[in-house]
Amino acid sequence: MRTEGLYIDGQWVRPAGAAEFATLDPATGQPIARCIEAGQAEIDDAVAAARAALHAPDWARISAAQRGNLLWRLADLIEANGEELAQLETRDQGQPLAVARAVSVTGAVDHFRYFAGWCSKIDGAVNPVSYPDTLQYNRREPVGVCALIAPWNFPLMIMSWKLAPALACGNTVVLKPAEQTPLTTVLLTQLCTEAGIPAGVVNLVTGGPEVGRALVRHPGVDKVSFTGSTEVGRSIVAAAAPDLKRVTLELGGKTPTVIARDADIDAAVAGSVRGGLLNSGQVCAAYARFYVDRARADEFTEKLGKAAGALRLGPGLDQETQLGPLVTEEHLARVDGFVRGGIEAGAHLVTGGARAGGELSAGNFYRPTVFGNVDDGMAIAREEIFGPVLAVLGYDDEDELVHRVNDSPYGLAASVWSNDVRTAHRLAERIRAGAVFVNMPCVPDAAGPWGGFGSSGWGREMGSQAIDSFTELKGVWLHYGTEATQ
Ligand code: NAD
Repeated sequence: MRTEGLYIDGQWVRPAGAAEFATLDPATGQPIARCIEAGQAEIDDAVAAARAALHAPDWARISAAQRGNLLWRLADLIEANGEELAQLETRDQGQPLAVARAVSVTGAVDHFRYFAGWCSKIDGAVNPVSYPDTLQYNRREPVGVCALIAPWNFPLMIMSWKLAPALACGNTVVLKPAEQTPLTTVLLTQLCTEAGIPAGVVNLVTGGPEVGRALVRHPGVDKVSFTGSTEVGRSIVAAAAPDLKRVTLELGGKTPTVIARDADIDAAVAGSVRGGLLNSGQVCAAYARFYVDRARADEFTEKLGKAAGALRLGPGLDQETQLGPLVTEEHLARVDGFVRGGIEAGAHLVTGGARAGGELSAGNFYRPTVFGNVDDGMAIAREEIFGPVLAVLGYDDEDELVHRVNDSPYGLAASVWSNDVRTAHRLAERIRAGAVFVNMPCVPDAAGPWGGFGSSGWGREMGSQAIDSFTELKGVWLHYGTEATQ
């Protein structure tokens, strides 16, 4: 079986005697490829290569237009290799091929194109300071060497959310994909070279949490851009504190959905199935807890259960599949633990509630699960499950609703279904979340800010906010008067 190398300073390396790990197909449990567990020496080399490339003329001195061209070429290459990337993502991560094509590959292409456009638009203001004969202007400069650490749920797309703005701003990077799903990042790294990105600008180290930890504490790293669990996010903040590295965090969530009395229930059900069960619920902003006006709760629960139960579960490479497997056996056990807890706590199991058997028993397939009559205190209503489990709760009035919706440490996203524009705007204002989607599933876009309140993270990706977070702001002061300043 093929062993993928590390990519350091423009070379693929396979250090002699390095530890290796296998990445498994979640639909079959079979190994697909092996990767190298980077050691401290390789991590040091990758960071040193990124540091040297930061100041090398072929990167530091290229024009903004040329940098934009490189990013655009990379987008073209991702598109040209889209089918291979999609199939690889499906095999490594499990998502249905249609999702890999339409969300993962398309999302990556869109990000590189969007940020290619930004390269020539990173400007600085001239500020009206009060000193006479003084010009004061801002420059936006690269932060430096950035460690980009990604999770396993949308490996290619989430790495692209980081890599595109990091490169647009002139940084250099060390990529660290999740150990469960490294393969599309290996291919993305190859495409960076093919696009003409100079040696040392993009480096890749594979491995588990220890590789991430070593990058975060590395004195040669200036910024950590992390997407993953809240627990690991907290430990990254602590580890980055001694040298005050720049840190942005996209963490967990428990996205609330509000279904108002006047909502179009059929549209809300269809949007909730998409928003809650895309990638088998392994989505940071997956719609997970549904607060339904008491007058419509039974109707919504019944229709949601029917729609979720009708989804076709199967291997992602099967064109008929709507719901793929969970990423690992270990993650399936965790999801099942929450479901068992919900049943024991007295929630009403409407559909699902178990691993799929028969010909699907070799893979990590879990039946889409809907609970009705859920109480606010139950773990299925409070904790991030990151699986195909939807919890329905009733509500009576808006003040009570808002209090309950906001009674969560998370605040990544929220969804509202209402045909009354006043209800929609009032709730969009009152709910504490980084993004509120009204009458639509959650669909991040390169042009709109993405990130969370509270324990869902620090900072924002996408939009102009990503440019801010991958640059340092410098003020330049110039006295042009004939009299000396004090
Ligand atoms: P995770 O936190 O376990 O791992 C994420 C990455 O961090 C992996 O590459 C892992 O190897 C690395 N890592 C682990 N421990 C580390 C440490 N101490 N220091 C540095 N790196 C370390 O998360 P996961 O299980 O891969 O992903 C699921 C989580 O990601 C969920 O909580 C989900 O909500 C979150 N997520 C958030 C967003 C968002 O945009 N907010 C998007 C996708 C996923």
